[in-house]
Amino acid sequence: MEQRLAHLRVVLVGTTHPGNIGSAARAMKAMGVTDLVLVAPEKFPHADATALASGADDLLGGARVVDDLAAALADCVWVVGTSARLRTHSVPVLGPDVAAEQALTHAAAGPVALVFGREHSGLTNHELDHCNAFVQIPTVQHFSSLNLAGSVQVMTYALRMAALGAMPQQAPAQEELRDPPATQVELEGLFAHFEQALTTIEVLDPENPRHLMRRLRHLYLRAGLSTSEVRMLRGILTHTERGR
Ligand code: SAH
Repeated sequence: MEQRLAHLRVVLVGTTHPGNIGSAARAMKAMGVTDLVLVAPEKFPHADATALASGADDLLGGARVVDDLAAALADCVWVVGTSARLRTHSVPVLGPDVAAEQALTHAAAGPVALVFGREHSGLTNHELDHCNAFVQIPTVQHFSSLNLAGSVQVMTYALRMAALGAMPQQAPAQEELRDPPATQVELEGLFAHFEQALTTIEVLDPENPRHLMRRLRHLYLRAGLSTSEVRMLRGILTHTERGR
């Protein structure tokens, strides 16, 4: 059971209130999710975090602090972004249960991250661009923003329920995967290569280069590329750049 949750990571981005970090750690520990990464928290370590962790101080003590989201996600094979508001992205928006099931399936192949945003402003579009899927916890229409730690509780509960129901043979173990899923580092390499090649062949609109790149990111993130597929696409890009 705990082993099935071992590859799940909670990433809190730019948290303002240290108490929320402590409450999130407590929520995670009760559900058996133990990997916590903090991206540029405003105040950490902090007495309020320790106080609200209330017994989950071991998990809090093991939390890694990094400077940016890319560092938190580098080794991840699947990333779910959480948001109180439905954005018009071309990446699927899932409910917590479906997202939890898919997260567990992907976690058989490597680390999977659930990313949570800032208390006041959530995640930026740039941060959401790292995600393979989004989750919106269903709420009433005009009061959709949950407390940060409350959202962590809902999502880790959904993960635990999915893990309880999962059949052991459902997902192949990492060593059985002949073509493992691409990591974020590999995907970022692909996107950088795309941008470079599309600039060389003058396909990128110099007025708005970001628009096409964002659409391409969403297309490839949705596709769930494997390591060898990334290699194949980069091979094509190399030839495209050379013009033959
Ligand atoms: N005003 C912000 C709210 C941030 S709440 C916004 O509109 O995005 C802080 C974080 O809690 C969010 O970034 C998200 O990670 C999580 N969260 C809050 N409500 C949520 C909901 N209904 N579904 C999914 N995540 C939610």
